[in-house]
Amino acid sequence: MTISVHQHPREATVVDAAPKQLFIGGAWRPATGERSYEVEDPSTGRALCSVADASPDDGLAALAAASEAQESWAKHPPRERGEILRRAYELIMSRHEDLALLMTLEMGKPLTESRGEITYAAEFFRWFAEEAVRIGGDYAVAPNGSGRFLVMRQPVGPALLITPWNFPMAMGTRKIGPAIAAGCTSVIKPAHQTPLSMLALAGILQEAGLPDGVLNVVTSRSAGRLMEPMIRDGRARKLSFTGSTAVGRKLIEQSAEQVLRVSMELGGNAPFLVFADADLDAAVEGAMLAKMRNGGEACTAANRFYVHAEVAGEFSRRLAERMSGLRVGRGVSEEVQVGPLIDDTQLGKVRDLVADAVQQGAEVVTGGSVADGDGYFYRPTVLSGVPLQARMSREEIFGPVAPITTFTDEQEVIAQANDTEYGLVSYLYTRDLQRALRVSEALESGMVGLNQGIVSNPAAPFGGVKHSGLGREGGKVGIEEFLETKYIAVGGL
Ligand code: NAP
Repeated sequence: MTISVHQHPREATVVDAAPKQLFIGGAWRPATGERSYEVEDPSTGRALCSVADASPDDGLAALAAASEAQESWAKHPPRERGEILRRAYELIMSRHEDLALLMTLEMGKPLTESRGEITYAAEFFRWFAEEAVRIGGDYAVAPNGSGRFLVMRQPVGPALLITPWNFPMAMGTRKIGPAIAAGCTSVIKPAHQTPLSMLALAGILQEAGLPDGVLNVVTSRSAGRLMEPMIRDGRARKLSFTGSTAVGRKLIEQSAEQVLRVSMELGGNAPFLVFADADLDAAVEGAMLAKMRNGGEACTAANRFYVHAEVAGEFSRRLAERMSGLRVGRGVSEEVQVGPLIDDTQLGKVRDLVADAVQQGAEVVTGGSVADGDGYFYRPTVLSGVPLQARMSREEIFGPVAPITTFTDEQEVIAQANDTEYGLVSYLYTRDLQRALRVSEALESGMVGLNQGIVSNPAAPFGGVKHSGLGREGGKVGIEEFLETKYIAVGGL
């Protein structure tokens, strides 16, 4: 493992060019009292720039703008809504490099991963541009033959969107895309650590022709203080949240007052099962993807590896070899493969989880410590013999740590995999078709990676069961989260 600290020549230019004010009703404006807060580069621990720190009144102004724009936006022809998304897709792709660098600077992920996320984010706009014109309805004869049923789909109304820092742009486009396509206006609040990507995206949508008020962006250091009045206000009809289960639960409670429609993409604790008959090359490759995409800071990250005892030694050895060869450092260097963790708190959490596992008997195969540097770097780590009672078996690690446990029995490993309140994604490696289907059906998760270490795709339904969430984003069903069904009973026939 090497630490790389290079500077990128375009850093200052890209940060200077990014918008830093609130985007309300189609206008850029400062927060009340010109309040602002500093955005940090997690690879240096130093301030990058300051952005507006919205007050509760600023939030309500954004909601007012969304609410005023709702009626006319809902009447906008679906084809035009789709074409705006399509133009925004083209604009994002034409500014790919600058957007990727901006994301790396505020979030830390390596440039190659930021480039991947920009494409992934843009693809949601392309997908929902195509879905905007496919909002259907239904017509049926009543069973007694005397009436007719007309079923139509209408936008749910102004939506509040809240996103996390780990995928600063894609978690936004996955909500904004279907909202725009369905005819909903919205107010989005990105995570305080990563506001710049979302502000840049708002500028792009404006350039693509999005009418004033259809999307509003508020940035803030005080998420709860800003969002709660909007959630309880009554003008919003929908809340779509991606983030931790603890915050999601609180938001569901707040949403109950106005009976808001909620979509919740929450935390995960993904099991990664490797059976003795698995293609081990593919399993190691898949493990690297499932564990190390975004440096382990992903809700879909493999959090618990269960490897059959017959292949566990070989799997651990190969995984450790790959992990120890990764280059850690500032994501702006082209050769870097693993960036810093998002902040000091997350670094402390990963350190504590590893210390706990080791204290309970786990063995460090590689890594296992904080890496040098001013930022929040942790060494890619493989632990073997991790006991089931270790904290990391229950909690999201959100870092580059792969804990391995062995198993011998299929039923036993299914029970262990399901022994968590989470249910976002599970991974499974086997060459036995019957086992593949049997275990996929038995795993309690919204998604399964079958001989595949990555499941995210704009054209597929993403989401979890149990405490991992409610609803689905992407795919054909993604737009449903922003639509209501209206039934018209037609008489007199
Ligand atoms: P978080 O602390 O729950 O924050 C997520 C968002 O909620 C941020 O914008 C945050 O704002 C905001 N927030 C925090 N407290 C709030 C409150 N009281 N009222 C309203 N908004 C509030 O989660 P995170 O640490 O940013 O993200 C990591 C979590 O997201 C992990 O659990 C991960 O699994 C989950 N995640 C899930 C998915 C999925 O699709 N299932 C995808 C990505 C991430 P501030 O930043 O200002 O606090």
